[in-house]
Formats: sequence, C-alpha cells, structure tokens
Amino acid sequence: MPSATNINPLNNHQKTVYTVTANCQDCYRCVRVCPVKAISVRNGQARIEDNFCIKCGTCVRECPQHAKTIRSSLDLVKDLLSSKRPVAVSVAPSFAAIFDGWRATRLPYALHKLGFKYVSETAEGALLVTEETLKNKNKGTICTACPAVVNYIEKYRPEYTDMLIPVVSPMVAHGKLLKKRHGKDCAVVFIGPCAAKKLEAVRPENADAIDAVLTFTELIQWLNEERIDLAACPEGNFESYGNIDKARLFPLQGGLLKTGSIDCDGTNADVMHISGANDVIGLFEIPPSDWKYSVVEPLFCSGGCINGPGISTDKNIFIRKQNVISYAEKSTISDRDIDRAISSRALFENENISLSAYEVDENRINQVFEATGKSDPKLQLNCGACGYESCRDNAIAVVKGMAEPEMCIPYMRRLAKQHSDRIIETTPNGVIILNNELQIMHMNPAFQKMFICNNGILGRHISYLLDTNGYEKLASGSVKLYEAIKSKNGKKYHELLYALPDESQYVGLYTDVTKIKFDDSQIDLIKNQTLEQAKELLDHQIKFSQEMAHYLGKSTARSEELVMRIMDLFEE
Ligand code: SF4
Ligand code: SF4
Ligand code: SF4
Repeated sequence: MPSATNINPLNNHQKTVYTVTANCQDCYRCVRVCPVKAISVRNGQARIEDNFCIKCGTCVRECPQHAKTIRSSLDLVKDLLSSKRPVAVSVAPSFAAIFDGWRATRLPYALHKLGFKYVSETAEGALLVTEETLKNKNKGTICTACPAVVNYIEKYRPEYTDMLIPVVSPMVAHGKLLKKRHGKDCAVVFIGPCAAKKLEAVRPENADAIDAVLTFTELIQWLNEERIDLAACPEGNFESYGNIDKARLFPLQGGLLKTGSIDCDGTNADVMHISGANDVIGLFEIPPSDWKYSVVEPLFCSGGCINGPGISTDKNIFIRKQNVISYAEKSTISDRDIDRAISSRALFENENISLSAYEVDENRINQVFEATGKSDPKLQLNCGACGYESCRDNAIAVVKGMAEPEMCIPYMRRLAKQHSDRIIETTPNGVIILNNELQIMHMNPAFQKMFICNNGILGRHISYLLDTNGYEKLASGSVKLYEAIKSKNGKKYHELLYALPDESQYVGLYTDVTKIKFDDSQIDLIKNQTLEQAKELLDHQIKFSQEMAHYLGKSTARSEELVMRIMDLFEE
C-alpha cells in the first residue's frame, strides 16, 4: 500500500506547491480544503506530499497564514531574458480579469519593457485547441484546458484517462505556435493564473513548447520591483492573430464550448460544463458505465481560471468575469494569415496512486479509534476540526501515515483535562472549587486530609468548614486575589484564593505551614547569624575610627571610649 512515508520527498525547490513551514500555524485549514487530501501532518507540521498533489492550488488560496506557496520561476525567466535567446511571452486570457480597461492596453508595452521580444495572447492557442477538439470528438468526451483536472484523472480516476480528448492545452499549443513563428531558439514564457501549468510545462512531451511559467502574482511582483507603472506606459497591442475573440472567453466556465459554438445552456442532457473542486470530484464519482455525456468541459477552479490560485486580487469574481467578457467584446481581430500546423496531440498517463479507504485494514482503523478513545461510535463526533470529513477518514489517514491522532481536537481536549485532573488529584496542596454561591463543588484528596472531611459535604456553604472572609472579598469584587496565613484546629495554613469569572467559580489553594517557620531553633540560628555579621561590621568600624582619630590628631583614648560606647549600645 502506498503511504506518505514510503515516497521520495522532493525539496521545496522541486515542488510546484509547497509549505513555508515557518508560517504554518497548524490550523489544518489546508488539510480541510485539499480536495484529494494530499497534505500530511507530522510533528504538527502540515506538508504537501508531492506525489498525491494535483497542483490545484486550493491550499494556496485558502491558507490564512500564506504558508502554502507556488514555486517561483522569476529567476529562471530573468536568466532566459539575460541569455542571448529571443524570448516570447504568452499571456493567458484571464489577464483581462485583473488588468481591466485601460490596463489591458498598456500591458503589452510593460511586458516589452521587462525584456520580452514578442508579446502574444494564449487565446491564439485556445482557438487552435478548440478546432482540434472538435475534430477529435470521437476520441473522448472530456475536453479540458485544465491541467489540475488532468492530474486528478491521471492520479485518482484512471478509468477516465481514455475519455480525455487527446488534444494539448492552449498554453502548449501556443508555445509551439510561437516557436514555429519565431524560430526554435526562441524561448517561450507563459504567464497565467495557474499553479498546475508549472508542472504541465515540464512534462517531457511538452519540452518543445514552454520554457517557463509565471503566475500573475509573480508578474505583478516583478512589475513592482522594476517600478513599472502601467499608468505611465503607452498603449500597445499584443501580437496575436486569428479570429480569437471568443477564445478570449476560455478562462470562464464553459469557455471552450462557447469558442467551439457548442450549445450548452445548462439544460442539455449530454453536454455540460462545470467548475470547482466539489463538482469535478462529484462528476468523476459517476461510474464510467453510467456516463451518458457526449461532451463535458470541467475546470478545477470554481468559476474557472479567473479564480486561479496565481491571481492575487481583491476584485469580486463576478467583476473579473465581466472584465474578461468586455475585453473579448471590445478587442480587434487580425486577419493576418499565420502558419498553424503544429502537433496538438496530448499524451495522458495512468498513475493511479489513489489512497482510497478500501486499501486500509479495518483492524488498524479500530486501533486508531481505541487509541483516541473513540471505539464507541457515539464518541466519533465527525466534527471536522482535524481537517477530515469524519473520524473514520481521520483514522484512515492516521493508518496511511498522513495524519496524527493529535489532530483530533476533542481527543486532545480530553487528554488535557485528564492531565490537569491528575495534577489536581495528586498535588500535596489542598484544592477546593466553589460555585458562585460559595458552595463546595470539588475538594481534592489533599484538601480533605488537611481539613478532615470527605465528599459528604459537597454542596455545603464554605462557612461550614472554613473562615469565609477571603471568599467574600473575592465575591464582592474588592480583591482579585486573596492571600493569608490562618489557623484551624491547631494547624496553620496558607490560603490563596482567586476567581474563575468565565466559569463563575472560586478556587482555593491551601498549603499546610504548621511546621515550616515558627520553629524557635531556626529563629535562633537566624538571630546568631545576624549578630555575627553585625560584629564583623563593627570590628571594621572600630579599626576605621582609630585610624581616623590618629590621622586627625585626637587622643586614641577618646576614640576608644567612643567605640566602647557603640559596642555597649549594640549589646543592649
Ligand atoms: S495544491 Fe491542491 S492538491 Fe496540492 S496540496 Fe494544495 S490543495 Fe492539495
Ligand atoms: S481552472 Fe484554470 S487556473 Fe484553475 S487549475 Fe484549472 S487551469 Fe489552472
Ligand atoms: S472528533 Fe476528532 S477525528 Fe473526529 S472529525 Fe472531529 S477532530 Fe476529526
């Protein structure tokens, strides 16, 4: 059985998405949102298991501490630009979601300023992909430009691999087009909203298409670093050719079907477009034998690529959608004839690394339940606080080495309570807890021994047992903490009292001090030590006085008389 512990770990530089461990606060939100539970927790640290990860970037979007990060490719792109090779950039159509209005027309200039020789729109590739998809409709029923969906099928639903229409993504198609247009030596950088594209670009079969992938987040960071202000850039045009207006809708849910003029208004029985992790996972839960669709277009990000993890913006997703549509409507079409003969055939793999539940021995699940005090199904709260949907899912993950029993919050709370209960029950100091009416709710064994009582007095007012002065002061709010030495039945005790306002309770801590301090021999010892130190000081004073008297020419006898008077005073 594959497990998180028997897979070669990649270091962060090799992973497409990774955890910045210093930022991780163990909140398990990433575990909760990861659609394929590719995040393991060891020693309290959440880390991505690269083999299980489909690079959807959901954890990047959702982590409140920004501990999940998409690998940066900025250095690689800067290296390409400083090499002698010409570098073209392919900008994904979702750019219009964030670079809206006048910004869209100034972006080409800004990209040239960063050093790109050719600046083009990936929509060109999207148009070619749509045409090829229509031609290959007999070879499958799933058409998608989304590498996260492809990763998901390859890893978790391999039975659907053969149903993927074997056409490359717009990014790959455009990379090939640009290299064909500008020469093989031309490097191509894709800029888009997606984490999964970084992995897609390095698949061996795509080696002749894309040299590096940046996210829009990286682009914005780079423009800021270079102090390139779009407002100060002149307007310009992308060097994009063909009838690509509709293809500019590719980043929206249903964009591919729209580009291909395939009717899909939500009421078709056999044609469907969906987006979002839940819908994608739900769709592929259909057994292939029950699959009735002739064309389905799934995108992993909810709402499509305009909601990809590589877009950092506060802009409302519906505004982003409007921006993309208005850009597609306003843009102009070039009728320049271009060579579009490239190989668009995609290759898919059957990885099948699914860690599904049936692989786990039931006995081992029960062992986890036993260890975490959940053998009784009533104690399986299924609260989801650990990041898993149910206690059973959590137990399966523990068996697989993906989770730790300590992730169960109710279990940890119970452990902590048992621990503190044990401390209270075994401490040599007396502990008593009263309610807000000063009635006894709990006494530990040391308290019962100290004040010779038992649980028979639970519920009685504290005045039945002890002087109530301190408790009354706490109850009136005149003090927050009360401390005193008191005595009862020949015992002296130290009393420390405080309130628990949230619980409306009072706590009393009692230490028996009968034997400590009032021991006469101890006091004599302390007195004698004090006298010794005082005499030492006086000897020093006598010598000093004699020297001073001699120096001042006064009679030594007179000085000695003074010193003797000091000694007498001391003895008294
Ligand atoms: S990128 Fe997606 S699959 Fe990978 S760990 Fe994050 S949420 Fe899970
Ligand atoms: S929907 Fe788009 S941005 Fe999101 S994972 Fe798929 S391709 Fe990437
Ligand atoms: S009770 Fe514990 S194991 Fe079960 S779902 Fe809640 S946190 Fe997870």
